[in-house]
Amino acid sequence: MAGIEIDRSAVSRCLAKAIAYQQVGKTEEAEDWARELIAHLQLAGILTDRVGPDVGQCFSCNDTVTESTGIFLKETNDWGCYDCCK
Ligand SMILES: [Zn+2]
Repeated sequence: MAGIEIDRSAVSRCLAKAIAYQQVGKTEEAEDWARELIAHLQLAGILTDRVGPDVGQCFSCNDTVTESTGIFLKETNDWGCYDCCK
């Protein structure tokens, strides 16, 4: 699913500023620009905030899976525990 068209110049500006601030040790400003960059990527549908629900069941062994014990499989909308997804 495509998001809205990405604002390339805004993305370039955010990235350039984030790097520039980082290089002069202004990490807070750098982080602000990095967040803005992420916001643009999210708007464009390149990055998604969350990949799935907080908890689910492993598609294979039916164990309860959370973000710390497994991964959400976007392709199938299923959770998989790390044991089954090795
Ligand atoms: Zn499993």
